[in-house]
Amino acid sequence: MRIGVPKETAAGERRVALVPEVVAKLVEAGHEVAVERGAGSAASFEDSAYADAGATIVESAWDADAVVKVQKPTAEEAAKLRSGAVLIGFLQPLTDQEGIDQLAARGVVGFAMESIPRITRAQSMDALSSQATVGGYKAALIAADRLPRFFPMLTTAAGTVQPAKVLVIGAGVAGLQAIATARRLGGVVFGFDVRSAVKEQIESLGARFLDLGVKGEETAGGYATELTPEQQAQQQAELEKRLPDFDAVITTAAIPGRPAPKLIPATAVDAMRPGSVIVDLAAETGGNCELTVPGEEIVHDGVTIVGRLNLPSEMPYHASQLYARNVQALLALLAPEGELHLDFGDEIVTGACVTRKETAEG
Ligand code: NAD
Repeated sequence: MRIGVPKETAAGERRVALVPEVVAKLVEAGHEVAVERGAGSAASFEDSAYADAGATIVESAWDADAVVKVQKPTAEEAAKLRSGAVLIGFLQPLTDQEGIDQLAARGVVGFAMESIPRITRAQSMDALSSQATVGGYKAALIAADRLPRFFPMLTTAAGTVQPAKVLVIGAGVAGLQAIATARRLGGVVFGFDVRSAVKEQIESLGARFLDLGVKGEETAGGYATELTPEQQAQQQAELEKRLPDFDAVITTAAIPGRPAPKLIPATAVDAMRPGSVIVDLAAETGGNCELTVPGEEIVHDGVTIVGRLNLPSEMPYHASQLYARNVQALLALLAPEGELHLDFGDEIVTGACVTRKETAEG
């Protein structure tokens, strides 16, 4: 199978869908890999490393049996795909119906990384988790960087410095990584989630569970469901009381397919001490803080609110490496013997396929 790796063109995107290490494995498995010139350079992977791994360096990688991407293609890029080609990437099936329709109209078989069912067998393909790990780590580093204080406690000749108090709201994959990272930096860390099952996970990382008295429902898949308006109001009121205690707040709360829940009202920010920092990882879906401006970093009455988008792209080497391994695992399922063999009886294949399922099945 010929696999194409185009250079990402979305603004600010520095990741690449395959890295040389994974290219070598795909070539060994019998695939031919064509990498667009400079595709990995923003992530520190040089063309020569891809060539050494067995890839061909090409000017355009769209003419392939399977095209692998990080971001969804633009309309012009999608028009370069062969009919019947497989396309893998974050295709945004829940929010970009137009893009999906265009792929379907071209007869492209699209696999959305975000639609891969989060079952145990698919863990190696779970790009939501791998990228959330990067985002959570980076969020803690940004919080530490923006804070005008130390994270750790220090005992110096000039006296003792008290450690920073950090709160992480939402303890899914990103939140738990933010907790672990903030702990490693020496902060005193608290975590909160509406899923009570995560209390133990928070504590196992050496952090404390902040009890707000709000407990939500959990779906069979382990996701939170949206809180009732009464529970939301209770959560906001409790947070408003507790937030002034914290120097840094990292928010990661999300409900799949829904806008981010608003947890921190403007009045709660007003109550925080000057110099405090909020890093809002949920900015991608509108933000957990009412004052977050997606894509920007603002200062409101001395409180810095970071709404930067696409944090995984800010650490593109490892984000790409982990993503590439996720893609490799999916390719192994789609082309087990080196040739495409789409088994729509497989729940991972059916779950991830967002276009042309019927035709491919028939
Ligand atoms: P996510 O990004 O959808 O949400 C982040 C967190 O926000 C979740 O923990 C959620 O409970 C929390 N949240 C939602 N509303 C909130 C609110 N009002 N206040 C506070 N927190 C709120 O979640 P995720 O990180 O993608 O994963 C969520 C779950 O899925 C976790 O239990 C994770 O372990 C599980 N998971 C399972 C697999 C698997 O293969 N079995 C893989 C990945 C994740």
